Amino acid sequence: MAFTVAIDGPAAAGKGTISKALAAHFGFAYLDTGLLYRAVGAKGGDPLAAARALTPEDLAADGLRTPEVAQAASRVAAIPAVRAALVAFQKEFARREGGAVLDGRDIGTVICPEAEVKIYVTASAEVRAERRWKELSEKGISQAFEEVLAEVKERDARDMGRADAPLRPAEDAVMLDTSDLSIEAAVAAAVDAVEAKR
Ligand code: C5P
Repeated sequence: MAFTVAIDGPAAAGKGTISKALAAHFGFAYLDTGLLYRAVGAKGGDPLAAARALTPEDLAADGLRTPEVAQAASRVAAIPAVRAALVAFQKEFARREGGAVLDGRDIGTVICPEAEVKIYVTASAEVRAERRWKELSEKGISQAFEEVLAEVKERDARDMGRADAPLRPAEDAVMLDTSDLSIEAAVAAAVDAVEAKR
C-alpha cells in the first residue's frame, strides 16, 4: 500500500530530523529531495545535463552539505527544466509500496499533492541560522553567525520567490513551528499528525 508523508519547509527548520524519525517510527522509506538539487548544483557545468544524468551514487557523494553547495542547489532549483527532470523519480518514490516520507520544498504542492499527510515545518530565520551554524561548527566549518543568517535569508527569498514550484505550505498542510520545540516534541507532533491520517 502506498502512503506518502510530504514534509516541506525552509532550510534548517528541522525537516530532515523529523522525516528520518517518522520513517523509522512507521517503517517508511525516506528521500531527502534536497540532495537531488545539491548533487546537480555540486556537479557544475550544464545543470540540465547533470539533472538528467543523476545517479544514486551522486546522492551519496561527499561534500553535498556545504554552504556553497546549498546556494548552488537553490540556484539550479529555480530552473524549470531541471525541476522537471527530477519529477518522475520523486513521484515514483512517493508512491512506492510500504510508505514513504519525502522532504523538500514542493512535495505537498507539486510532487505529491495526493500525499496522505502534509506537514509544513518552519522556524524563525534566527533559530534556523543558529542550528545551521552549530551544525557547521560541529563539522569543522567555521562561518560567522551573521553570514549564516544572511545565507538562510537569501535562500528563503530565492526558494519562496521563484516562479516554478515556490516554497509555500499546501492548503491542507499541518503547520509545525519548531522555533520553541525540542526535537522530541517536534517529532511527537509529527507522529501525531501521521497517526491522525492512518
Ligand atoms: O533541503 P536542502 O537545504 O538540502 O535543499 C537545498 C536546496 O534545494 C533548497 O534551498 C531548494 O532551493 C532546493 N530544493 C527544492 N525543492 C526540493 C528540495 C530542495 O527546490 N524539493
